[in-house]
Amino acid sequence: MIKVLANDGISELGVQILKENGFEVNTKKIDQEDLIQKINEENYEVILVRSATKVRKDIIDQCPGIKIIGRGGVGMDNIDVSYAKEKNIHVINTPAASSSSVAELVFAHLFGMVRYLYISNRQMPMEGDTNFKNLKKSYSSGKELSGKTLGIIGFGRIGQEVAKRGIGLGMNIMAHDKFIKEENITLNFYNGDKKTFTIETCELNDLLKNSDFITIHVPKIDDEALIGAEEIGLMKTGAGIVNTSRGGNIDETALMFALDKEKLAYAGLDVFENEPNPSIHLLMHNAISMTPHIGAATLEAQDRIGSELAEQIISIFKK
Ligand code: NAD
Repeated sequence: MIKVLANDGISELGVQILKENGFEVNTKKIDQEDLIQKINEENYEVILVRSATKVRKDIIDQCPGIKIIGRGGVGMDNIDVSYAKEKNIHVINTPAASSSSVAELVFAHLFGMVRYLYISNRQMPMEGDTNFKNLKKSYSSGKELSGKTLGIIGFGRIGQEVAKRGIGLGMNIMAHDKFIKEENITLNFYNGDKKTFTIETCELNDLLKNSDFITIHVPKIDDEALIGAEEIGLMKTGAGIVNTSRGGNIDETALMFALDKEKLAYAGLDVFENEPNPSIHLLMHNAISMTPHIGAATLEAQDRIGSELAEQIISIFKK
């Protein structure tokens, strides 16, 4: 029986599909330093990880029984992918499984922003019974998303899922991508109807100048923040910005300055420069809607990740 070690966990559905197809699955975590010994002793042929467990050259060299390394999710920073491939090990991942989850979180932040949920949820428990009328006054100048322009920076998997939801809300979509010039976006409706929209991407500066809300979906840009003081300067006064991509794609200091000066009205952040210890100034800021890097973390995404990994493993062993 082929043995699978899912060292950072896998959904029940993934376990079930693998078991039904004759695999044995262990989801009990093995410490990083014991991995080589345990993989060899217990004859694992597949190791599945998320972001915690590292599969580096040492494991690849010293565990010759490993045939597949799988990453539940997108980024493969914790796996020596090219080295594994040189050794004829299959490396698999599930890049599209969480795109809808991240796209929905973008709208959770956007809806929360325009009606001040992020701040009213902090104040209602403290003052809701003594200061109700003033709170009502403070948060009575909300906005609707419908009819506004949504600028999507990075028009890959997640950016396109965001576009679908924006179109559904009646938003005007602008998109910018370094490589994509045009994309067909198909909305699938509950009754089986479909409608396809062709979106041409534009220059970053046009998007910055014309969007009411901006959302970032590019990979981690290493050299400098994609959105810094200069880019914020081009944005509409009173605009909002959401980053669910990677910490550092927005310059956090420039962002806080722009919020303090009311150049930007609000921001939504799921990712931070210094995770897991984000800047305390950012955490205390009362114009920022925040989540602790949970973009991909829905039960539906976990199930898709588990089942997609299971199907890929089954098909590799069938060959
Ligand atoms: P993707 O590769 O499908 O899309 C990224 C797009 O960005 C591509 O179309 C690429 O051409 C474009 N791009 C790259 N560099 C660019 C640049 N400098 N300017 C403009 N466009 C550029 O990736 P995806 O699956 O859509 O993921 C997007 C981001 O979301 C990644 O940073 C990923 O790490 C992040 N992510 C976050 C979470 C979370 O939990 N918050 C979950 C999944 C993914």
